[in-house]
This record gives sequence, C-alpha cells and structure tokens, in this order.
Amino acid sequence: MSSVTGIHHITAISGDAQENLNFYVGVLGLRLVKKSINQDAPDTYHLFFADAEGHPGTDITFFPWPGMPAGRLGPGVWGEVQLSIPEGTLDFWQARLTHHGLSVGEPELRFGEPTLPFADPHGMRLALVEAPLYEGFRFTPWEDSPIEADKQIRALAGVRLPEHNSTPTRNFLEGALGMQRLAEEAGWTRYGIGGGEAGRRVDLRDEQEAPSGRWGVGSVHHVAWRVNDEAHQSELRAKIVGEGVSPTPVIDRFWFKSVYVREPGGALFEVATDGPGFAVDEDPAHLGETLVLPPSFEVQRAQIEALLPPLGPPGNGGV
Ligand code: ZN
Repeated sequence: MSSVTGIHHITAISGDAQENLNFYVGVLGLRLVKKSINQDAPDTYHLFFADAEGHPGTDITFFPWPGMPAGRLGPGVWGEVQLSIPEGTLDFWQARLTHHGLSVGEPELRFGEPTLPFADPHGMRLALVEAPLYEGFRFTPWEDSPIEADKQIRALAGVRLPEHNSTPTRNFLEGALGMQRLAEEAGWTRYGIGGGEAGRRVDLRDEQEAPSGRWGVGSVHHVAWRVNDEAHQSELRAKIVGEGVSPTPVIDRFWFKSVYVREPGGALFEVATDGPGFAVDEDPAHLGETLVLPPSFEVQRAQIEALLPPLGPPGNGGV
C-alpha cells in the first residue's frame, strides 16, 4: 500500500464536557465509545464519539477545554468537518438541528452532493452530507441512539483545510499520503483516495490574505488517517520523511498506534493503525461507560478522577 486508506478519526477542542456529550450523543446520536483523559493533560477528558462499534472512520473525539478562547478558522488549521448521512435524510436532520436551536445554514450542493452546514454548540463548523461511502467501509448502527438506524450519521465524510499557499500541502498529500487531486469547485480543490468518496477526502483552498487559523474552543486539533497495520504505517512514515517533514516516532495510543506530523502549511496530521480498536480494554457492550485510563496512569486514578469535572449521562439536547 502506498497511500492512507481514509480518515481514521478527527480530534477537536470543545467547551464544557457535559454540553459536548449532550450534543454529540443526545442530538447527533453518536455513541460515546471511550471516556478517557488527554494523555498530555490528564486533568482533561478525552471523549470519543463513533458508531456502535467504534469503527475507524466513524470517530470524532474531543478535548473539552472550556477555559480556552474560541478558535479561529483560517489558514494552517483544519476547518469544517463533514459527516456522512444516508441519502434522503437531509430534511430530517435540518428539522432536528433547527428544533434544538443550532445555527443551521441553508442546504447547498457541493460537488453534486446535498450538504447542510451548521455549527455545534461551541462554534465548531460541521456539515452533513448525503454522500456514498467508499467500498468496504464498515458502519454499525447504534441501537440505543435517539436517531433511527436508517438515519444515523455513518462516517466522517471529509474535512476542509484552508492555506495561505496550498502548493506545499498539495505536494505533501500526493507525495507522503498518496492522495490525488480529484476535482475543483468554488475555489476548493478536492484531494482524496480512489474516487474521493465520503470518508477519504480533503478539500483545500488558498486564502492568501486571511489571518492564520488558531486553535481554541470549536476548532479541529488534528485529522488522523487510516493505515492497515504497523508495517503499512512504517511505510507511510518513511514516505513522510522523504517529503522533508519530520514525523514523531510511533506512539502507542492503546486503541491504535499513531504517528503525528505537521504538514508544510502547519496543520496537524496523524497516521493511525486500524487496530486493535476500542474493545481492547472494555467490553464492547459497555464501551464508554467508565473512565478508562492508559495503564501508566492507573496508579493516579483517584487523583485524576478528583480533578475531572463530573460527567453525567447525556441529556436530550443540552443546547
Ligand atoms: Zn488523534
């Protein structure tokens, strides 16, 4: 394999943890598949929302940092995250989001696909897209979701990335990750794997005059891309090095192995293995119900639990 295979997960910065949980589970209907901590800031939760089984490509995760200033969309920071919904469900979703008081834009056609942009309760830019997923993509509906199985969000469809000068980023996507330029529309250039179906694409745009983006509440922290296993990851890591950028060593995240790299425009990428997955340290029937700590943090469990804010079951809406 000479390319990543699709989006693995996307991690973002949210405000209050309970509000974040209420929205992604109570309104969007995703499953909380892992409740853990930020391994670099153990007084902060790391919440993982996904399909019923936490398949790669379905997972959006958050560091709730309510004290942080709002992020700013702009060059060098990942922008809008698109979520894949089944064909014919955009009207249902528009009514649901509006009912819950979200800031919902007008439906639009992007690259021929019905798309509904909106913002989550903490200002993060999202869009729902009626778009086919790539062949072999695995999604399992969650039967306890407030959303009926045939309307549930199925995957991370894609993500936007503005740049001051996208040329080095384009070279990085092609040379290091094996993506191809697929289409252009309204100033956005789509890169992806295969046909660029939902789940394996990124849209770039040059915004030469815009102020640089800034991390903060409501912004994406990084986007992780799938590789099959550690051998595939090692191959991709060598290609990244060959492009003249410096990735981290392989880091064991327990549910997957990760390599991080900042692309030439400044956005943070991760390359993560498909396995072993979220069931490695929890019963698949009870994912996300208790606080899971990396083994090296277990001795500090009492102190860590005392520092974390209380987190109850998701309310219905929370907005
Ligand atoms: Zn990550």
